[in-house]
Amino acid sequence: MAEKLLAVKGMNDILPPESARWEWLEDKVRALMARYAYRNIRTPILEHTQLFVRGIGEVTDIVEKEMYSFEDRSDKNGDHAHLTMRPESTASVVRAVTEHNLLYEGGKRLYYMGPMFRRERPQRGRYRQFHQIGAEALGFAGPEVDAELILLAAALWKEIGITDWRLEINSLGQPDERALHRIKLIAHFEQHANELDEDARRRLHSNPLRILDTKNPAMKAVVDSAPRLIDFLGARSLAHFDALKAILDANGVPWTLNHRLVRGLDYYNLTVFEFITDQLGAQGTLCAGGRYDYLVEQIGGKPAPAVGWALGVERVLELLQESGRAVAPLAPDAYAVVPDAAALPLALRTLQTLRAAGVSVQMHASSGTDGMGSMKSQFKKADASGARFALIFGETELASGCVAVKPLRAGKAEAAAEQTLHPLADVTAWAPVLLA
Ligand code: ATP
Ligand code: MG
Repeated sequence: MAEKLLAVKGMNDILPPESARWEWLEDKVRALMARYAYRNIRTPILEHTQLFVRGIGEVTDIVEKEMYSFEDRSDKNGDHAHLTMRPESTASVVRAVTEHNLLYEGGKRLYYMGPMFRRERPQRGRYRQFHQIGAEALGFAGPEVDAELILLAAALWKEIGITDWRLEINSLGQPDERALHRIKLIAHFEQHANELDEDARRRLHSNPLRILDTKNPAMKAVVDSAPRLIDFLGARSLAHFDALKAILDANGVPWTLNHRLVRGLDYYNLTVFEFITDQLGAQGTLCAGGRYDYLVEQIGGKPAPAVGWALGVERVLELLQESGRAVAPLAPDAYAVVPDAAALPLALRTLQTLRAAGVSVQMHASSGTDGMGSMKSQFKKADASGARFALIFGETELASGCVAVKPLRAGKAEAAAEQTLHPLADVTAWAPVLLA
């Protein structure tokens, strides 16, 4: 036998029945997004590397060390394209919106779902191919849209039965407000240089704000005593933040202020937020978002405000499983038992009619050479399929122009509610029996 080939490390197959949970979540998201009037956008998985360098920022973990990038073979004119498999989708959405001029007639509310790629150390809740669902609202400057996005995420948790979350918020103000804070922040960290880890020392002058969201517990004290961004915000920034908080309060969405919640780049401003759970260990951030009013311009578009979030599908599904939320595995309504291969043409025609009427039917499949297999083995498969009914295309039934419907999941008492015969001539009329 040839050597068995395995998947790439950190990139997972999503197999049935687990995939049913994914479909279930995706269906819930689609329905919810429609209720908030967010429309689906699908962008390519490959983009020019430059998009992410500009759209995520050079001094970030993602761009510094996590991207899957490669040089594409030269095309006719000899240009090599530097391409990257998207590590996130905000930059792509902004590019698409700009490229297709989607904001010329006003704002746009968009959502996406799909795989993202980051070369990180695989561990629980952290993979190299993972999936995000994201919502972005572009062209809207007001705090009510920040609030709408947070309410949308909270509604999703409610809809899918996640109760163990907390919302942390902060405001980054505007770049000019941050400039003064930055000077004080660097001074503070320089004063405590001996308490900084290597990462922090490296970021001290390139991206000091990011030191605040260190995960190193040894730096807790130096970070907790650092100057707070909120103390540097002007009246307009504070008003935006207050308006957001008022809407959250009016909607009963609890929040806590986290002064350490930051994004290190100049095109992020005002609102930042994260939904966090304590149930998933170190990888507890379910959903992260905020405003990025200067990113559209950064990517070459006409300046436009924007705000959005992205959630990690694997983490959300793991949390659902942790909290015991069961999603029923998929089972067909009926399983077709066909004792004799000669009945297959008629049987398959009947199944087509049933399926067209909305019934899900699994057909018994032969091993190819030895006929259809014994009735006993067919019924064993019918049972294993989880179907509630067996459809029996037996000789006697067919001779009377009928198919037998046998309940498979009836309790002992109902066992007497034995099988019933239904005419092959009028399948659509009795199809609802199988949906009951
Ligand atoms: P973290 O601090 O956990 O690395 P991040 O700041 O890199 O997160 P974002 O870029 O904000 O994450 O992505 C949004 C969400 O996507 C995260 O909150 C998380 O739920 C999920 N996510 C990010 N990276 C991964 C990954 N490698 N594997 C699985 N999920 C991920
Ligand atoms: Mg990360």
